[in-house]
Amino acid sequence: MSSIVNDIIATVKQKDPAQPEFLQAVTEVVESLVLVLERHPEYRSYKILERIIEPERVIMFRVPWADDQGEIHVNRGFRIEMNSAIGPYKGGLRFHPSVNLGILKFLAFEQVFKNSLTTLPMGGGKGGSDFDPKGKSDNEVMRFCQSFMNELYRHIGPNCDIPAGDIGVGAREIGYLFGHYKKLRNEFTGVLTGKGLNWGGSLIRPEATGYGAVYFAAEMLSTRGETLEGKTCIVSGSGNVAQFATEKILHLGGKPVTLSDSNGYIYDEAGIDAEKLAYVKQLKNIKRGRIKEYADKYKGAQYFVIDPQAEYNPLWNHKADCAFPSATQNEINAKDAQNLINNGVYVVSEGANMPTTIEGVNILLDNKILYGPGKAANAGGVSVSGLEMTQNSMRLNWTREEVDNRLQIIMKSIHNACLTAAERFGTPGNYVNGANIAGFLKVADAMIDQGIV
Ligand code: NDP
Repeated sequence: MSSIVNDIIATVKQKDPAQPEFLQAVTEVVESLVLVLERHPEYRSYKILERIIEPERVIMFRVPWADDQGEIHVNRGFRIEMNSAIGPYKGGLRFHPSVNLGILKFLAFEQVFKNSLTTLPMGGGKGGSDFDPKGKSDNEVMRFCQSFMNELYRHIGPNCDIPAGDIGVGAREIGYLFGHYKKLRNEFTGVLTGKGLNWGGSLIRPEATGYGAVYFAAEMLSTRGETLEGKTCIVSGSGNVAQFATEKILHLGGKPVTLSDSNGYIYDEAGIDAEKLAYVKQLKNIKRGRIKEYADKYKGAQYFVIDPQAEYNPLWNHKADCAFPSATQNEINAKDAQNLINNGVYVVSEGANMPTTIEGVNILLDNKILYGPGKAANAGGVSVSGLEMTQNSMRLNWTREEVDNRLQIIMKSIHNACLTAAERFGTPGNYVNGANIAGFLKVADAMIDQGIV
């Protein structure tokens, strides 16, 4: 049976040799599915794996824009429409210089399984650009977003493809993108999620990914009769996901001690409390400053530079109980995973997408810790995006409590779906296999029902 897995991996290597992240994401999923394919030969005869790894459509386009000095720049824009078997394409837009086709294909592929787990009817997609919003004026960001939408608007719509934010795309960018879509189409619809509250957004959407990752950790802990109360937590990143993961850790009585950005990280042994977190939100969302400034303001905190070429990231080498990687892909390698274990970490709940390398994942699994992979643990964001779409369709807004309750119910349901699938297919407690299998089954069955399309 592993020959089918090897064949799929070989096909991806051969067809897309320059897409290592995509290969990594596919490898992890297909390796989880060996027993499923053995028990369900129909998935093989319908060539579900061969079809699920091929995007339904890839759109790639030129994004020209002029900076404040009038100089012209050209970026590359993408939208990957990966799979629409269970609903319209749904997934974020990422603006970051590292963005390329392979990274967006890995994210779109992950999104298919994640969206399937949410219990909501959403297919998978992802998009973005190699544009770097850092250091750009608001007007430059606006002109870029408008140029990006000049092409993207042809391909998206509230019943077809509904983008949202991701790295580098927050409330400001969604506002500019939505405004321009509305102008081009002359239509006010829920074509993007993460919108502002007074123009169609949902309460709790900004919080949802970070809160969801912490709810997922709480669910995992509850299987051992424990809670987050008093637990020391390492968080990476200092953007949307990291900020709200930190906030929910505080709500549940935990002690967050780190935050990072791409230059370095802060370690605050006394804990990042609500007042310090409010400072971080101001620093990152308004002033658009660097996390280093935290250690200038709070003298008890230490700042460490992160060298991306180093053998390991010192952020993961502190005594703690829980870790919430919330920055980017492959931020935890094998050495980092081993450092987490050596430092007593026994809960890892991934706010970011694929933050752990395959070697790192194997170390976490071998040590039988509570490990929630991103496609399950960070699904709260897209879930509340789905709830935003529902509210837009009904033309009404739910209260904060209503959305938060629904988010908690969804995170519980994802947790249960992972545990049940892992148990059913012979690897109890393995949330990686559980998430991949549960996510796959729903999409695969829908693909069979819909014929060869
Ligand atoms: P933001 O842009 O708000 O924040 C990203 C954070 O990660 C920043 O602190 C950034 O630092 C840091 N970061 C980005 N790239 C790197 C890198 N190459 N090395 C080190 N640090 C880096 O993004 P989000 O918080 O929205 O996203 C974070 C992660 O969560 C991503 O993996 C994203 O795909 C995932 N995610 C996000 C969802 C959402 O709803 N926003 C939903 C589900 C998953 P710097 O400022 O220096 O760039």
